[in-house]
Amino acid sequence: MEENKSVEEVTEEKEVVSKNFIENAIDKDLADGVYNTVHTRFPPEPNGYLHIGHAKSILLNYGLAEKYNGLFNMRFDDTNPTKEKVEFVNSQLDDIKWLGADWGDRLFFASDYFPQMYEGAVKLIKKGKAYVSDLTADQIKEYRGTLTEPGKEDPSKGRSIEENLKLFEDMKNGVFADGEKVLRASIDMASPNMNMRDPVIYRVAHMTHHRTGDTWCIYPMYDFAHPIEDAIEGITHSICTLEFEDHRPLYEWVVKELEYPMPPRQIEFAKLYLKNVVTGKRYIKKLVEDGIADGWDDPRLVSISALRRRGYTPESIKMFVELCGVSKAHSIADMAMLEYCIREDLKLKRPRMMAILDPVKLVIDNWEDGKIEMLDAANNLENPELGNRQIPFGKELYIEREDFMEEPPKKYFRLFPGNEVRLMNAYFVTCTGFEKDENGNVTVVHCTYDPATKSGSGFTERKVKGTIHWVNASTAKQVEVRLFENIVDEEKGVYNEEDGSINVNPDSKKVLTNCFVEPALAEAKAYESFQFVRNGFFCVDYKDSKEGAPVFNRIVSLKSSFVLPKN
Ligand code: ATP
Ligand code: MG
Repeated sequence: MEENKSVEEVTEEKEVVSKNFIENAIDKDLADGVYNTVHTRFPPEPNGYLHIGHAKSILLNYGLAEKYNGLFNMRFDDTNPTKEKVEFVNSQLDDIKWLGADWGDRLFFASDYFPQMYEGAVKLIKKGKAYVSDLTADQIKEYRGTLTEPGKEDPSKGRSIEENLKLFEDMKNGVFADGEKVLRASIDMASPNMNMRDPVIYRVAHMTHHRTGDTWCIYPMYDFAHPIEDAIEGITHSICTLEFEDHRPLYEWVVKELEYPMPPRQIEFAKLYLKNVVTGKRYIKKLVEDGIADGWDDPRLVSISALRRRGYTPESIKMFVELCGVSKAHSIADMAMLEYCIREDLKLKRPRMMAILDPVKLVIDNWEDGKIEMLDAANNLENPELGNRQIPFGKELYIEREDFMEEPPKKYFRLFPGNEVRLMNAYFVTCTGFEKDENGNVTVVHCTYDPATKSGSGFTERKVKGTIHWVNASTAKQVEVRLFENIVDEEKGVYNEEDGSINVNPDSKKVLTNCFVEPALAEAKAYESFQFVRNGFFCVDYKDSKEGAPVFNRIVSLKSSFVLPKN
């Protein structure tokens, strides 16, 4: 694979060359007649905002359903009322929709299946495969044994089926306090797999659920609930992450004992991790609660809402997860790869405009006072379809402070006394002098322009080595611009080894209030993005911008340290 190929070409080749292991497993299932369709789901718990890792799972599940002409379910795994909230249900749906995973009318809630789960538990009791236990949580742990020692039988195990049915019904009817009784599956206390040592499948919890209210005071455990949810919905391939590999035998046990006609199959893949980036819901939540991040959509985070606010597009995230691939082996992706993807996505789609982030005035002394000339500029040199625009040009401009030097080093081709440069889309100017304030800071740079050198006029008699960008001072819009760095201190790594806290970078957000942009940008709308010449890609902040007063977040700079891997 050559380096100069576009990402589209690369991913296309990848698809032709190799399918991922999940696709291979699906192909085999279809060929063997195990299933005659593909039905996937994305099953988040509504206990926080979704992040880039979830995006991988969403796009994987949705992508498989699409590829195999199957079905995709959006299902909330809302079986644990402690941390679940309607706020999270809504934010997760917004994020998934924005990513482009269209569930149509296939939106489900695991809590709607509480009656079937209860029936399933009763069925197990009747088969002698589940029993009510009096042990406390601590005792259950103690009786469970260790990896090297088998567990001990639960003293409650000898109860009759009738007794168990009665006690389970009492659990449901609120006779017991939280923790007083649990329902356990009767499997094998000597199993080498700890998950099979009579796992708890129902517990008493007097809690109000965000959907079912106080209807239930018993709630199913994840390992019991999840296979039932999948089976009820007719899921064929239940795709989850590697930490559930050891739970697969239990998943299979549940669907077998409950005698579902077409049991779903669990397949695990490795979670997506980003180097030096806080991904887990729990940790993102901590940054928000500790006030280090300004909310779940702080543009420095990698929650999906934060990435969207920052200016990432669904296409760029899709490109990123495709480049990461699907595998069984843990690997850590680089943020630079995600940044590469957004640059690739935006570079032809968005206009390239002029904005000055650290301004110094440039005065053209031989330009007529008050005269404004409208100049023509291409919106995107690489994509003529984006058309042209007119930019005002006049006597006083702003240029970047770093584009002028009183005493230039070697190979500095921008403005310095006596040097001639091109003003992008405008004229050649020659620096004639400058002014300083009492602190020695340059306040004004003076120059003269040559009318013969107008951009697009075909002037070829002289060449200049430097081109600098500018905005016309009298028509420019002053705006706020924010530059970001990793919220994590990359030198120290994400977690503090001593106390597990997050190593925070104190300089991760820089707010610039004295920036000037072309007048056309004054009307930019929330989520609109632009390339600012030399400064990077920027997106209009949806929260802090006002009509006619956009605030720009830098999505990413133009420089890339990422090179597409050759393979
Ligand atoms: P977190 O660890 O951030 O709390 P979670 O696994 O607890 O995530 P769930 O709501 O239970 O979050 O996850 C929904 C789905 O997203 C699950 O199938 C889970 O395996 C998948 N998922 C979560 N994190 C990642 C990740 N980093 N990479 C890929 N898939 C993920
Ligand atoms: Mg979870």
